[in-house]
Amino acid sequence: MSDQGSAPGVYHASADFIANAHIDADGYARMYEASVADPDAFWAEQAQRIDWIKPFTKVKNSTFDYGNVSIKWFEDGTLNVSASCIDRHMLTRADQTAIIWEPDNPATPSLHITYRQLLENTSRMANVLKAQGVGKGDRVVLYLPMIPEAAYAMLACARIGAIHSVVFAGFSPDALANRINDSEAKVVITADFAPRGGKKTALKSNTDKALFDCSDRVKCLVVKHTGDQTTWIEGRDVDVKAEMAAAKPYCAYVEVGAEDPLFILYTSGSTGRPKGVVHTSGGYLVYAAMTHQYTFDYHDGDVFWCTADVGWVTGHSYIIYGPLANGATTIMFEGVPTFPDAGRFWEVCAKHKVTQFYTAPTAIRSLMGMGTDWVEKHDLSSLKLLGTVGEPINPEAWNWYNTHVGKGKCPIVDTFWQTETGGHLITPLPGAIGQKPGAATKPFFGIKPLVLDPANAEVQTETAAVGVLCITDSWPGMMRTLWGDHARFEEAYFSQYRGYYFTGDGCRRDEDGDYWITGRVDDVINVSGHRMGTAEVESALVAHEAVAEAAVVGYPHDIKGQGIYAYVTLMNGVDPTDALRKELEVWVRTEIGPIAKPDLIQWAPGLPKTRSGKIMRRILRKIAENDFAALGDTSTLADPSVVDDLIDNRMNRG
Ligand code: ATP
Ligand code: MG
Repeated sequence: MSDQGSAPGVYHASADFIANAHIDADGYARMYEASVADPDAFWAEQAQRIDWIKPFTKVKNSTFDYGNVSIKWFEDGTLNVSASCIDRHMLTRADQTAIIWEPDNPATPSLHITYRQLLENTSRMANVLKAQGVGKGDRVVLYLPMIPEAAYAMLACARIGAIHSVVFAGFSPDALANRINDSEAKVVITADFAPRGGKKTALKSNTDKALFDCSDRVKCLVVKHTGDQTTWIEGRDVDVKAEMAAAKPYCAYVEVGAEDPLFILYTSGSTGRPKGVVHTSGGYLVYAAMTHQYTFDYHDGDVFWCTADVGWVTGHSYIIYGPLANGATTIMFEGVPTFPDAGRFWEVCAKHKVTQFYTAPTAIRSLMGMGTDWVEKHDLSSLKLLGTVGEPINPEAWNWYNTHVGKGKCPIVDTFWQTETGGHLITPLPGAIGQKPGAATKPFFGIKPLVLDPANAEVQTETAAVGVLCITDSWPGMMRTLWGDHARFEEAYFSQYRGYYFTGDGCRRDEDGDYWITGRVDDVINVSGHRMGTAEVESALVAHEAVAEAAVVGYPHDIKGQGIYAYVTLMNGVDPTDALRKELEVWVRTEIGPIAKPDLIQWAPGLPKTRSGKIMRRILRKIAENDFAALGDTSTLADPSVVDDLIDNRMNRG
C-alpha cells in the first residue's frame, strides 16, 4: 500500500484495484445507508446469495431488550447449508477445485479437491454419521487435525442437520471432555495423530482420556491419518476411512429451518470459562458468504488462504462456509508458519498462487522476528490483498506486512470481529475505505457501532470519542444464544449496557469516524487515575527493534493504584540486560508519555497463548499480582510449560 491518500497515514488501494473491486467508496456509502435505513429490504436481497428450499417471508425479528433477548433472521425459511456450499455449484463448477489441502510436511503432496469430490466425500461422511445414529439436532464434536476430513465432517453434519462443535486439536483431554459434556455430544470424530510442525499430537489417546470423563454412550470415530498404531476399543471406536469407503457415495440433504443451529463453538477462553456460542443456519451463511466476498474482494478464479485453524471461528467462516458458499477455492493448511522453516507461509503462497492471504498479527510478529530473507526468497507476485484478525495489529507489524509481504501494493484489511459475531463487524472494504495501520476503520453493512462512556453508559455522540464498543441492533450472522444457558448469554452480552450488544472491547473513534479497537475492556489499566489500554503500551514496546513480542498487564501498586507490568520477548539473539531494560523504559516514556513507563519488565522467552495465538492476559495478571496459585483454566493454552518459567522468574515477589 502506498501512502497516496490525501491525509497522511491513510493508505488506499491502487486505481486498478478499485476499478475492479466489488465495492468502491460510493458503493459503500450507498449500500451502508440502505442497510441501516431498511434492514428488511437490504437483507432480503442479500439472502438470495444462498439457496433456500422454502423461501422466507419474514426477514428480521430481534430484540436486545435485557430479559427478553431474542434474535431471529429469515425464521420461516428453510435451507440446507451443505447444499448451498456444495450441491448448487454442481452445474457450474463441479470440476473446479474447492479445497486445496496443504500438508504439514511439504514433501507430502498437496491435494486438490473438486466440488464434485467434496460432494461425494461429504455424502460418504454423512452416511457414516447416519449409520452411527446421528440425526437432526444431535451434537457431534470434531477433534481433528487440519485435514480434508475435518471439512467433510463439518459439511456432513450440516447435511444431515446435526450440530457440530469443533475443538482445536491442540486442546487437552480436559478441555475436550468439558466440551463433549457441555454439548452432550453423541459422537466425537478424531484422528490417530495430528502432525504439526514435524511433531505429532496423539489425538486418539487424548480422546481416550477425555472419554474417560464422558458418558459411555459417546461413539469415537477415528480417521487413520498418519496410520500409526493406537489403542482400539471394540464396539466404541469406528474406522472412519474404512466406513466412508464402504458407504454410499450420495446422501440426500435434509431441510432445516433458518434458525436451526449449525454449530456450537466454544470461545478461545482468553477471559474465563469457555462459552458455547451457538450459530444458526440461514443468517450465518448469508453473512459469512457476504463478508468473504466483500471484505476480501473475492473474485472467481482467486485462491483464498486463511491460515486459521478450523477449531477457531475464523476457520469456520473463512476457510469453510464463506468461501464454499461463494464457490471459491480455499486453502486448508495442516502445518505451522515455521516448519520446516520460517518461509513456509510464503512458500505455500508461491506454490498455490494465493491471491488473498489472511492471518493473525501474532504470526506476523513472530515471522518479523526471523528477518526478511525468508519472505524475499519466494515469489509473492500473485498476492492481491492481505488481511489480519484476532487482535489489534501494531503499526510496526502492519508496516512490515505491507512492505515485505504486500510489496506496497496489497490493501490490508484489519478485520475486527468475534466468535460471537459470525463474521466481520468492522473492517476496511479494500476498494472503498482508506486504511490506517492499526485501525479496523468502518462498519460492515448492517452494523451500527456505538461508543459508550464506561463510567455512565452514555452514548458518545461526538465523532471523535473513546469508550467501550457496543452494537445497536442485530445482524444475520450474530450468535443466538449460549448453548444451554440463555441466561448467561443475556448476562454476558446484554446486561451491562441495556439495549445494546456489548463486545467487551474498548475502542477509539477518530475525527474521520474510523474505529480503532484498543483491546478488551478487562485489559484496561488505571495508572494514577489515567485509564490506558494495554495494547498501546504493548505496541510501543514492540516498536523497539530489540522486542519481538510484549504483553502488558496491571498489578496492585501502593501509590499509583495500578502499576504497569510488561512481559517482553526479545528478538532472536538479543541479550536480556539491565541496560536494555532501562532503555525500554525510556523508550515507552518517549513513545507514549511518562505515565506509560513500565514499572516492572520481565524477560519472557515465551508467552501463554491460546491456540488461536492470543495472549492469555488473565494468567499474566495473576502472575503479576503474585497470585499464581489460582490461575484458572489453563487447558486451552498452546504450551502450558511457559507459565512455570514465568512464575519462576516473576518480578513482583510482593
Ligand atoms: P474469550 O471470549 O473466550 O475470552 P476471545 O475473545 O479471544 O475468547 P475470539 O472470539 O476468537 O475469542 O476473539 C474475539 C476478540 O479478539 C475480540 O473481542 C477482540 O478483543 C479481538 N480482536 C479480533 N479481531 C481484532 C482486530 N482486528 N482488532 C482488534 N482486536 C481484535
Ligand atoms: Mg471474547
